[in-house]
Amino acid sequence: MVSHRQKPAIPWLLIVLFVIISASSILLGLFYYKSQKRRLLNDKNLELSAIADLKVRQIAQWRSERIADAILIGENKPFVRLLYDYLYSTNNKAIRSDIVPALKSVTGNIEYKNIILIDPQGRVRGHYPGQDTVIGEYLQILLPDLLKLESGILTDLHEAQNISYVHLDLVIPLINNWQEDTTVFGLLALRIDPEEILYPLVKTWPVPSKSAEALLVRQEGEEVLYLNELRFKMNSKLVLRKSVSEEKLPESMAVRGVEATIDAIDYRGAPVISAMKKVPGSQWYLTAKINHTEVFSALNEQMTMIIIIIILVILAIGLLLGILEWNENARFYREKYEAELDHMALRKHFDLILKFANDIIFLTDRNMVIIEANDRAAEAYQRERSELIGMSLSKIRAPGAVKALENESRILEEKGFSTYETIHVRKDGTQIPVEISARKVEIEGVKYFQSICRDITERKFAEETLRESEERFRKIFEESPISIAMTGKDLGIIRANSAFCKMLGYKEEELKSVTLRNFTHPDYIAGDDVSFLRMVAEEIPVYHTENRYIRKDKTVIWGSATMSIIRNNNDEVQYFLAMIEDITQRKKAEAELIAAKEKAEESDRLKTAFLHNVSHEIRTPMNAIIGFSALLSEPDTSEEEKQQFTDIIFQSGSQLLSIINDIVDIANVESGQVKLNIKEMNLNSHLRNLDEQFSYKEKPDVISINLSLGLSDKKSLVMTDSTKLIQILSNLINNATKFTSEGRIDFGYSLKDGYLEFFVKDTGIGIPPEHHEKIFERFFQVDNLVSRKFGGTGLGLSICKAYVELMGGKIWVSSNPGEGTDFRFTIPYIIPEKL
Ligand code: ADP
Repeated sequence: MVSHRQKPAIPWLLIVLFVIISASSILLGLFYYKSQKRRLLNDKNLELSAIADLKVRQIAQWRSERIADAILIGENKPFVRLLYDYLYSTNNKAIRSDIVPALKSVTGNIEYKNIILIDPQGRVRGHYPGQDTVIGEYLQILLPDLLKLESGILTDLHEAQNISYVHLDLVIPLINNWQEDTTVFGLLALRIDPEEILYPLVKTWPVPSKSAEALLVRQEGEEVLYLNELRFKMNSKLVLRKSVSEEKLPESMAVRGVEATIDAIDYRGAPVISAMKKVPGSQWYLTAKINHTEVFSALNEQMTMIIIIIILVILAIGLLLGILEWNENARFYREKYEAELDHMALRKHFDLILKFANDIIFLTDRNMVIIEANDRAAEAYQRERSELIGMSLSKIRAPGAVKALENESRILEEKGFSTYETIHVRKDGTQIPVEISARKVEIEGVKYFQSICRDITERKFAEETLRESEERFRKIFEESPISIAMTGKDLGIIRANSAFCKMLGYKEEELKSVTLRNFTHPDYIAGDDVSFLRMVAEEIPVYHTENRYIRKDKTVIWGSATMSIIRNNNDEVQYFLAMIEDITQRKKAEAELIAAKEKAEESDRLKTAFLHNVSHEIRTPMNAIIGFSALLSEPDTSEEEKQQFTDIIFQSGSQLLSIINDIVDIANVESGQVKLNIKEMNLNSHLRNLDEQFSYKEKPDVISINLSLGLSDKKSLVMTDSTKLIQILSNLINNATKFTSEGRIDFGYSLKDGYLEFFVKDTGIGIPPEHHEKIFERFFQVDNLVSRKFGGTGLGLSICKAYVELMGGKIWVSSNPGEGTDFRFTIPYIIPEKL
């Protein structure tokens, strides 16, 4: 599978992710640093304040202790008195020896380096241990004030010329208080070396620190004077001075009343945190400070660690993302490589297909110019491949097929693919029918057409052969005189030939929506179904039957059907084939034959009856004639009797004549010798005569004969054979009188649709419907009492029928037993041409 995945040039997502994570780590680190710094500064500030507080309290305590020492010494009366005595007694030699031990006792405290006794004039009168024996300039200046003191004071730190170290003095006024004299008679100055207690008090720091420092200052004018030796500046005590106005200097701030700051710059110019306090009861200020660098060193170390961790985290994330990206790249290139392999394989495969394909394969540009052709193409067109490449497709088309190329390429362009057949031509001009399967392809954004052409000469030949064969069979099927229909498994018509359509009166399209059952007479459907099932079950291969079928016009025909089954290769039922021969005519002929046979038999029977009748009918009058003729010749026959016998002989002769006439008439009819004798006839007057004749003849008391005329006398002039018409009517009226015992006989005519319709209607015994047809047959007589009583030949109505039909009309009867009989017949109404 060729992958078309594009590799993004820069992995923006990963970069953005990396930047976000890195920035977040850095910000987190910064935030942590800031908060830690703030916390540290606060803590340090508090610590420094506490230390400054502690130191100030210690210094104040120390000062208080010194003052307490002064009071103690000042109030030591024997000691003071000794000093007094020493100063003012004349004999002080003895005392002098006591003075030194006394002073020595006072300097028991290690701090007090020296003690000197000063008289009001400022002279040093005694000292111990004796390094300095004069008062310095500092005390000298203060002397007048000191002589006014009531209790001891501490001087400030100062230097003196003759004293090597910075010091301060505890000055105790000596008062002769045992004589109630408050005058200061001398001063005792205890020289305190601050290095002993005070400076260590200031210097010591409760925890080890590299930069922490406490220092004492005092204000001197617009300056602050550093009172102790500084940690980072040698020889600074009482030497280093800084301006009070230095804004960030902690000592200046202390003088200005500030108590704590984190933002100070110390005397070295180093940034420090500082706390400042004034030492109560003195001019001193104590500042405690520590370098920023020291405070933050731990934090900075921690921060270094954090920075390292952040850098590591960023590096790790970077690495991870890098690995991901690398992985992705690797995958991408692996896929690309695999795709390339696939592509190569495909290419190779394609080349092989091209080379060994049985089909002709072309690649053309959009102008249908060949840009690639396989070996098969070269072989098929008898041209070199190089010759084919660059050639227009139209050049290998048969002249008649070139025109279609434009349309085909348009369809291909629109649809993207196209399959069609055309004719190509070889170099030698011979033609090859080909089937082309063309497709639009896009290679690297350029559109081409790929055509696969298959030589279909053989297929065409096979198709043609098949087509001809099919055509032949189609013709056989179509033109077969036997009706053939092919149905599906449901007996639905699939195909029907014209004989079939003609037989049933349908068009082929109409038949396709119906099944065989639709026109099989219902009486035969069940039988057919059983036979079809037996064929499906392979019980019988085919079956024959004679069925009745219903045509489209609802007429019923007879068919001799042969049904067979068509199975596919898997032996599954596919179609039924119905071949039906229309045998209606045959069936009819058979029926007619049967009817004729029956008729012949009937005729035979009738003739026997006729002969019997005729012989009876003839014999009866003949017997009468012969019998009464013989009686006539009898001598004793009276005239009256002779007349009676003659009448009987005449009647019998007439009867005999009538019978013979009938027989002659029917013989004429049957031999076709009866001709019409058309003449003008006055219908009304003839009918009136007939009416008169029968009214007179028949039983007028029980039967009334009534005539009704359908036309005026004027219009009743018609052209017809009057003799036959009157004979017909006479026959009918005769029968009516014969079969009517009482009631009426109506006869007459009316004009209907150009025909004269005659009727003879009686109220007699009537005729059962089953005999309505038969009574018109020769010799037929309804077997009943009346017939038997009156006799007859059964020829009258058949003569009537023959005459009516000869005259161009029809005759029929409507009757039911006991309901009377109505005979009707028609003849054409022809008016005589006026001369
Ligand atoms: P026939 O000489 O026997 O009367 P036809 O041919 O005239 O012969 O009549 C045939 C038969 O038809 C008669 O025998 C009779 O049974 C029946 N028939 C004819 N006319 C009538 C009628 N008006 N009423 C009842 N039956 C009739």
